[in-house]
Amino acid sequence: DLSGLLNALEKADGRNYGAYKSMIGQYRMDIWRPGAVLYLDRVQSDPYAPPSDFRLRLGPQQLPFADQWWEDDTAREAIADYLARRLCSVIHSFSPARPHFSMAQPGQEILRRSSVMLAPHPDIPGLPRGMELRFRMQLPARGRSILGKTAADLIEYDLIDILDEAIFRAPKQQLEKQIQVLHDYRVARNELEQRGLVAFIADGSLLARESGVSDRPLQNAIKTTAPESLAVTMDLPYAGPTRGLGIKSGLTLIVGGGFHGKSTLLRAVERGIYPHIPGDGRELVVTNPTAMKLRAEDGRPVQAVCINDFISDLPSGVDTLSFSTENASGSTSQAAAIVEAVESGSKVLLLDEDTSATNLLIRDPLMRCLVPSEPITPLVDRVEEMVAAGLSLIIVMGGSSDYLPLANQVILLEDYLLHDVTERSRSLFLGKETEVTNRRGDAQKLALLSAHRPWPRATRLGDRLKLKTQGVDAFSINHELVDLRAVEQLVDSAQTALLARVIVSILGRSHQLRDQNDSLTQLIDSLLSEVRQKGLGALGTQNPLSGDLAEVRTQEIHAALSRLRSLRFE
Ligand code: ADP
Ligand code: MG
Repeated sequence: DLSGLLNALEKADGRNYGAYKSMIGQYRMDIWRPGAVLYLDRVQSDPYAPPSDFRLRLGPQQLPFADQWWEDDTAREAIADYLARRLCSVIHSFSPARPHFSMAQPGQEILRRSSVMLAPHPDIPGLPRGMELRFRMQLPARGRSILGKTAADLIEYDLIDILDEAIFRAPKQQLEKQIQVLHDYRVARNELEQRGLVAFIADGSLLARESGVSDRPLQNAIKTTAPESLAVTMDLPYAGPTRGLGIKSGLTLIVGGGFHGKSTLLRAVERGIYPHIPGDGRELVVTNPTAMKLRAEDGRPVQAVCINDFISDLPSGVDTLSFSTENASGSTSQAAAIVEAVESGSKVLLLDEDTSATNLLIRDPLMRCLVPSEPITPLVDRVEEMVAAGLSLIIVMGGSSDYLPLANQVILLEDYLLHDVTERSRSLFLGKETEVTNRRGDAQKLALLSAHRPWPRATRLGDRLKLKTQGVDAFSINHELVDLRAVEQLVDSAQTALLARVIVSILGRSHQLRDQNDSLTQLIDSLLSEVRQKGLGALGTQNPLSGDLAEVRTQEIHAALSRLRSLRFE
C-alpha cells in the first residue's frame, strides 16, 4: 500500500535516479480514503525528461457527488471537466513557481478529456462507478541521485492536500452550475436544426475576449441583445425561456464598420461548436456542430482536391479537377478548404473578410470587363447554388455589397450592437435586379457536393514511430511537421494529440480499413466512433493511459490530414 511506496522512496534516497523505476506499480491508499488506489505507470528516464505518469482511482462511496449525477452522462462529463480545471488551479496555487505536479491545462471549453474521467467511461473499463485522475509528477533529484525523502513528502503531504482541496472541497454549487450549463447548451444545440437555425446567441452573452492571446471574457464588454426581428426563444431546462439571436440557415451576412465587432461575433459562432464553462460569457452561444471556419492559407499543401467550382482554366493546363500543389496561393488554398470542409460533412461554412482571399470572395463589374480570362469564379457566383444544395454560409463582409442581394439575413453591427438590416439592404437593390443577375455564374452543377478524395495510400511509419504534439497548432509524425494554425476551431493541445493518433491509425491501417469504408470521411467517422466506444486512448500503439487526450471532430481531423505533405492518394 501507500506506506510501502513511501518507505521505498525514503530507502532509495541518494541512490541512482534509475532506481525510481523499481517503484512502478499500484498502491492502495486506504489510510487516506478507503479503496483509493494510486498507480505509478511510467517513470521518467532522468530528472530532465518529461515528468512521470501517475493515476489515481476513487470509488463512488468516497466521492462527494449526488447519486443522480452518476446516472447522467452529461453530469459526469461536466463534473470531470470541472475537476480537471480545479485540479490544475490548486496545483498551481500550491507551488506557483515550479509545480511538482502537472496536468493538461484546460481552456474555456468543456470537453471530454482523459485527464479526469468519471465512470462508467470507456477509458476506465474496470470501474463500474468512480473516478480516475491522470497527472504527472517531477520525481525529485539532486544531480542524478534520488531525493527520496522529498519525493515521499510530496506524495504524503502535497499530493493529498491538493486532492483534498481540489476534489473533496469542490464547492457543490459550482459543480451544479457546470452541470446545468452543459445540459442547457446541449438542449439548445439539439433545438437548432428543427428551428431552421445554424446558430443561437442568447441575450446577455459576452463575446469579446480579453486579448488576442487570451480566451477569457473581456471585462465590461457590451453584451448581446437580439433585434426583435431576429429573436427566438428557447426553452431550456435550467435557464428557462431564453431569448436570443437566431441565425437561420441559408446565407447570413455580418456587416458593419471597422472595429464594430464583426469578427468577434463570427469567432463566437465558430467556438459555439463547443460548450463553455460558467462565467465565460459564451455559455449559450450554440452553433451547428459541423460548422467550419475557412480561411486563406497561402503556402499550404493541397492534394487531389477538385476546386473546379471556383478555379478552372489555370495557366499551363494545371488540373483543377484534381488539384495538387506544395504551395497554394491565397485563393486556391481557400477554395480547397471550402471543398474539403463540405467533403468532411460540414453544412455551415464561416468566412471572414479579414482572413479571406478577396479574389475568391468577390469581383466587381469593371474588373470582370477588364479581365475576362480570370480563372476564378468567386464564391459570390456560387453561393446561391450552395444554399440551394442545403449548405449555409455566414460571411463577415464590410467592404463590398456584392453578397447583399443574395443574403437571407443581414446583421449590422454598430458600436457592438446587433441590428437587422435585411429589409433595408433589399430595398437598396430594388430595380437593380438585372444588373445583379447578370453577374451570376452559370447553372453548372456544383462539383464540390460530390467531391470525394481518392483513397490515401498506406504509409510505412516504421517500428519506432515518433509522434509529437507541439501545442495546439502543430504536430509531427516522424519529424514531418503538420501546421494547423489555419484550422481555427482546434482549441486544445489534447485535441491535437488525439487527432495525431487518429491520423497515424489512418496511415497505418489504410488498406485494412478500405473494405469497410466508402470514403475518407466515413473512415474518419468510423475511427471516431471507435474512440467513443473503446476510449480516447484506444487507438494505435501509443500510451493508452495518456491524460493528454481530448475529443476532436471529424472536420479537424480531415483538415489536418489534408495538410500532411507526405500523404499521397491512390
Ligand atoms: P471588426 O471585425 O468589426 O473590425 P472586431 O470584432 O475585430 O471588429 O472588434 C474590434 C475590437 O472591439 C476588438 O478589440 C474586440 O475585442 C472589441 N469588441 C468586440 N465586441 C465587443 C463588445 N461587445 N464589447 C466590447 N468590446 C468589443
Ligand atoms: Mg474584423
